[in-house]
Amino acid sequence: GAEKTKNVLILMSDTGGGHRASAEAIRDAFRLQFGDQYRIFVKDVWKEYTGWPLNDMESQYKFMVKHVQLWKVAFHGTSPRWIHCAYLAALAAFYAKELEVGLMEYKPDIIISVHPLMQHIPLWVLKWEGLQKKVVFVTVITDLNTCHRTWFNTGVTRCYCPSEEVAKRALVDGLDSSQIRVFGLPVRPSFCRAIISKDELRDELELDPKLPAVLLMGGGEGMGPVKKTAKALGDALFDDLIGHPIGQMVVICGRNKTLASTLESIQWKIPVKIRGFEPQMEKWMGACDCIITKAGPGTIAEALIRGLPIILNDFIPGQEVGNVPYVVDNGAGVFSQSPKQTATLVAEWFSTKTDELQRMSENALKLAQPEAVFNIVNDIHDLAGQQGPLANIPYSITASFSYPAESN
Ligand code: UDP
Repeated sequence: GAEKTKNVLILMSDTGGGHRASAEAIRDAFRLQFGDQYRIFVKDVWKEYTGWPLNDMESQYKFMVKHVQLWKVAFHGTSPRWIHCAYLAALAAFYAKELEVGLMEYKPDIIISVHPLMQHIPLWVLKWEGLQKKVVFVTVITDLNTCHRTWFNTGVTRCYCPSEEVAKRALVDGLDSSQIRVFGLPVRPSFCRAIISKDELRDELELDPKLPAVLLMGGGEGMGPVKKTAKALGDALFDDLIGHPIGQMVVICGRNKTLASTLESIQWKIPVKIRGFEPQMEKWMGACDCIITKAGPGTIAEALIRGLPIILNDFIPGQEVGNVPYVVDNGAGVFSQSPKQTATLVAEWFSTKTDELQRMSENALKLAQPEAVFNIVNDIHDLAGQQGPLANIPYSITASFSYPAESN
């Protein structure tokens, strides 16, 4: 057709919080809905175009999250707007040229940020280029409740909030209600559209066809008390009186190879599957009856779509705290930091308290928002249509080194 293919640049970073999963969800939904109309780039521009500390957020984040007190200081210490704005402005000025080249290389018609530290600097770059009116810039927030204030920038075209709670925070931080949409957290389309039966999935994944199954995981990095919980489940799901297991267990260790090999070396009394990073989480979730996980937003949103009751056993201070009441207060799961207590609860769900499991599963499904990712890309598509074709706008690469003024 006469319309030119539009470029979409998705800004993300592998710093947990399901940013990559959300970015890929949005990319896949664009392809499904609009095919060749959009060319999509998922990029960590910090890593590619800047120096320390921006290019090193991944390892800094991992270091801080491992040393929980440090992360608490980083999260809460940077909350006042003047602190993070001054810090980001200084970094932006320092890396201005590289960033400008990095962003503009993709000639974006649309920029989507799925990271709390990727609004201010890209928006300043657009301003320097005189493009802030021509490029659609949207934020997709990936925290369900207690998110960091750097997510909110009044200069965005849209801010997609996963929950009403986050939308309220956006309003408090000065966004206009016309900028805010609440569709839910974007989850990979393969999750939303897959309708394969549990029996078929168990067959395919070589799980026991009859025994109820618990899925144990800890985000992409296999974090939280996974090992202790697995051991406790190994005991609790074996009935000593009858000498038979009453359940089976799947442990997905993500990128945590040490965890996987430790668990592999254990002799289990119940059927156990230990896996590394699994690209098709929708299948494993579809084959199980409940899930134990840290309070990662991605995993929670996915489990809700599959109707899995959730036991939250850990959270990252700061952004993941609010995910706990989101699940518990809505009756879709419980919070338990004791591996023993967690294992006992699962054993009850699989024997005497099957009705409680059923009720929580129904609540999970009520809370699920499988259409969120499609609503988001459809809305962005509408916005892009309103902007008109951008083919004639020159992208000059001339960095201005003026200190960016805070316009909020
Ligand atoms: N995930 C996956 N395969 C794995 C482990 C995790 O695809 O083996 C996905 C999971 O389905 C979710 C994301 O990684 O989409 C983890 O995001 P979450 O927000 O739960 O936690 P994070 O690891 O980002 O802190």
